[in-house]
Amino acid sequence: MDLGINGKTAIVCAASKGLGRGCAEALAAAGVDLVINARSAGPLEAAAAEIAAAYGVKVVPVAADIATQDGRAKVLAAVPSPDILVNNAGGPPPGMWHDWEREDFIKALDANMLAPIAMMKAVLPAMMAQGWGRVVNITSQSVKSPIAVLGLSNSARAGLTGYVAGTSRQVASKGVNINNLLPGIHATDRAISLDQGVVAAQGISMAEAKAQRAATIPAGRYGTREEFGAMCAFLCSEKAGFIVGQNILLDGGAVNATL
Ligand code: NAP
Repeated sequence: MDLGINGKTAIVCAASKGLGRGCAEALAAAGVDLVINARSAGPLEAAAAEIAAAYGVKVVPVAADIATQDGRAKVLAAVPSPDILVNNAGGPPPGMWHDWEREDFIKALDANMLAPIAMMKAVLPAMMAQGWGRVVNITSQSVKSPIAVLGLSNSARAGLTGYVAGTSRQVASKGVNINNLLPGIHATDRAISLDQGVVAAQGISMAEAKAQRAATIPAGRYGTREEFGAMCAFLCSEKAGFIVGQNILLDGGAVNATL
């Protein structure tokens, strides 16, 4: 399928590996020039070179912490008016409801709610003025079904989801579509670190922890970054102009709900 976005420009935040990298690669495969971001310069520059070589698009790496105002300014300086924005950042650490103090919540809100909101505020006016834009926010299945050990994520992402629900409907008439992608368990470093938490808590092996978590997914396996990226690229495509303010689960059926 021709996604109709060849030659457009995208910012993909937190994209040196994992789900952000999957989104960057799928957009590059559709002919989109990229600004990609992560905090560590080495892996980010390697990712940019690999994506540019594989897909023949322009890829500019910007090493910065997207959870900070300075970091966002650096990323936006590379392309102030992108056609496409994919918001992403690392997820908050696990714990239990009684573990977190105000500072822990502020960190989670900065990374997983306020950073994507600030990025949207920065790019939406130009998208609306040109009559076309796409924003995808990477959130979590925890928005639909809370994950006990990820209370910081449950909380911060719920705030972003509310903002998107209202904002997406105010910009849609200008050709700008904002949607959220909700990953269930995917085979990335984040999943490995959560598996390690299960190993430590239950005294089981890594293979047992992975099998235990895979058994909670009707598909019987973790998702891949390629599958995730393909859905992201579709939501960023010309074909997705009638999809507004949706929360799309990619979880192998893990959330047991009719709707
Ligand atoms: P990952 O494999 O650990 O990759 C995270 C990427 O984000 C890396 O490129 C990392 O590079 C970058 N990053 C992290 N914090 C950043 C920051 N503050 N500023 C800029 N870049 C940053 O993680 P993932 O599995 O792709 O997860 C992506 C998001 O999806 C997370 O918010 C996670 O909680 C959520 N999620 C993931 C899963 C899953 O199963 N994988 C499920 C539900 C939700 P640097 O470290 O160099 O910055």
